[in-house]
Amino acid sequence: MTDTTNKLEIDSDVYKTLLESTRAIPWKIDWSTLKFTYVGPQIEQLLGWAPSSWVSVEDWAARMHPEDRAWVVDYCVAQSRSGTDHEADYRALNSDGEYVWIRDVVHVVRKENGEVDSLIGFMFDISERKKTEEKLITLQKELEELSFKDGLTGVANRRMFDTIMEVEWTNAQRSNQPLSLIMLDIDYFKQYNDRYGHIQGDDCLKRVARVLSSAATRSRDFFARFGGEEFVLVLPETDEQSARKVAERCRKLLFKEQIPHENSPASHVLTVSLGVGTMVPTRKDEPMAFIDEVDRRLYQAKQKGRNTIVSRNQA
Ligand code: GH3
Ligand code: MG
Ligand code: MG
Repeated sequence: MTDTTNKLEIDSDVYKTLLESTRAIPWKIDWSTLKFTYVGPQIEQLLGWAPSSWVSVEDWAARMHPEDRAWVVDYCVAQSRSGTDHEADYRALNSDGEYVWIRDVVHVVRKENGEVDSLIGFMFDISERKKTEEKLITLQKELEELSFKDGLTGVANRRMFDTIMEVEWTNAQRSNQPLSLIMLDIDYFKQYNDRYGHIQGDDCLKRVARVLSSAATRSRDFFARFGGEEFVLVLPETDEQSARKVAERCRKLLFKEQIPHENSPASHVLTVSLGVGTMVPTRKDEPMAFIDEVDRRLYQAKQKGRNTIVSRNQA
């Protein structure tokens, strides 16, 4: 044995030890037979399958999540055929029947004539990274939800109302259908806070929101806290008469709650005033003018003594 071969042997031993002591799992596939010629023993630790059970690419594909299989196999075959190094993330099945997220990084080895000789690569366990990513996505969704939710009552907030109103306004313009809007304001709520304290005032708002949110029942009906002690209902494809019925239901539902309000000049229980409007908006109409009109009716309901509904302009 010459010095050079000895050195090479030492080198390949060193390489083998290095390869097999990393957390990444090395492998090699012969392109002409599509069979594994090498899989690092670490694979057994990660997935539970013995290295000897990885015979061909079929074993690799069979141990892949069904949702990932088609695109990963197609993509890797296409990339390999064209001689391009590539990587793919997929879920690999372990021997307990569970899936582990893997990143497979593939280098295409070519012969001198340019043809593909073999594929060599590393599999990385990326399940922790995926878990973090999924957690971030969930947090992001929660944050989006929160930004459209009123912090106190849990119902939709003013921002969500603006968005929904815009959408339903355009829908109504297109479909030539009536759109109704109800604005509600608690009567003498300042006196309520004065009498019962701000904390009980907050609890009262939560209760009112819960009760009123059940007043409208169609799937596209939308309820939100407009601000302070004011709430709003958007009722798509709803005519004046039906909108008025919903407004009456709001009053009745709240009356049933019998929330004491000793300092209210309107009643001994908590009441609301309501403005109702219905419109088939044309291309020229703006939602702002409609909202202002309904708000004026709410003001008229206040002037009429509160605990009442105004659904026609009384001016
Ligand atoms: P009106 O019958 O004319 O509506 O009288 P009001 O006292 O209800 O009307 P006003 O708009 O003058 O006062 C509303 C009160 O609602 C003032 C404010 O302290 C109270 N309020 C607004 N937001 C909150 C809240 O988040 N929590 C509590 N506890 N009170 C609130
Ligand atoms: Mg108010
Ligand atoms: Mg009020």
